[in-house]
Amino acid sequence: MTYLDNAATTKVCEEAAEAAVKAMRETYGNPSSLHRMGLDAELLVTDARKAVAQALSAAPEQITFTSGATESNNTLILGAARAYGRRKKTIVASSVEHPSVEETLRVLENDGFTVKRVKPRADGRVDTVDYLYAVDSDTFLATCMYVNNETGAVNPVADIFEAVKHKQPDCITHTDAVQAFLKLPVKVAAMNADLVTVSGHKVHAPKGIGAMYIKKGIRIPALITGGGQEKGLRSGTESVPLISAFGAAVNAQLKNIDTAYKNARMLNDRLRTLLAPLDFITINSDKDACIPYILNFSVQGIRSEIMLHFLESKKVYVSSGSACSKGKHSRVLSEMGISDKLADSAIRVSFSKMSAWGELDQLTGALREGHMTLEKTK
Ligand code: PMP
Repeated sequence: MTYLDNAATTKVCEEAAEAAVKAMRETYGNPSSLHRMGLDAELLVTDARKAVAQALSAAPEQITFTSGATESNNTLILGAARAYGRRKKTIVASSVEHPSVEETLRVLENDGFTVKRVKPRADGRVDTVDYLYAVDSDTFLATCMYVNNETGAVNPVADIFEAVKHKQPDCITHTDAVQAFLKLPVKVAAMNADLVTVSGHKVHAPKGIGAMYIKKGIRIPALITGGGQEKGLRSGTESVPLISAFGAAVNAQLKNIDTAYKNARMLNDRLRTLLAPLDFITINSDKDACIPYILNFSVQGIRSEIMLHFLESKKVYVSSGSACSKGKHSRVLSEMGISDKLADSAIRVSFSKMSAWGELDQLTGALREGHMTLEKTK
């Protein structure tokens, strides 16, 4: 089996699985309970919070656990609008945000806010000057994803946020760092990020757990209210097994970020070399602009879904664009100026620390065979 869809989700690592099972079997108290069992559960949450904070170079009290990046993005963006969008009404975003940001922005547009969307350049990256041009004295929130989930394009968020703060010092900055977390350095203060979103299942923790960073002094009202857990920011009994697993996954990877990055670079370079002689392939991920964990390419003349299912028949699992935009036209590739024809035949390959060299040969072999077979049946 060849699993090259790690930008969609990753396999849970041993450390995370063990932590989850231990929390379910042994430390099953409610962290809010005042007795020993509750305290033990609370300790697991505290440890995990420290791990996530360390990975973001933040303080533990600035980290709030959520059910995932979708909830974090919703809470942070809607919350920023409620707290800071009374006098000012404009939000600046990239035009290629994940739906959990884009759809939230549409909700706000329906409520009367103005959203200015900045297109990426042809290499997939949002340019600092283009972004800054959209920011004016009415802008209260600037959001820009760190790494694009379809192409792997790495946006210069530190530069963008520095420029934004220089132009409008009271503008709040937010980055969806899901595809960058534990792959690139995400140092919140150095990046001038006031709000940051991360997710567990992209970093070998289970699905259904994520976190958000909120800089001290930034007021974000809760989206989910109730018993006041997570300092009132996110009510609901904490999912101790998932939180503990998230912490364990973070600790396991934090030590090996550089080694994993080098490995992803080698895999990406090798795949580019293997694909180069295949004249029916067009690469959409610019080598210098994109993180090595993601490689997007088009198989000319064959629709993504058709190729995807052929690859699946060979037990090779990849994605067509992003898993979240199932069947829909890729907005990300169109915004980069890629033709509809090429966008409709895009395949996204994504690696993790668990990816192996042999998988590349499996993929390229299956692609060749798929192209030959499917061309004939056209
Ligand atoms: N943002 C980005 C960039 C993503 O890739 C994803 C996952 N596809 C999300 C947000 C949503 O994450 P979650 O599944 O944790 O809600």
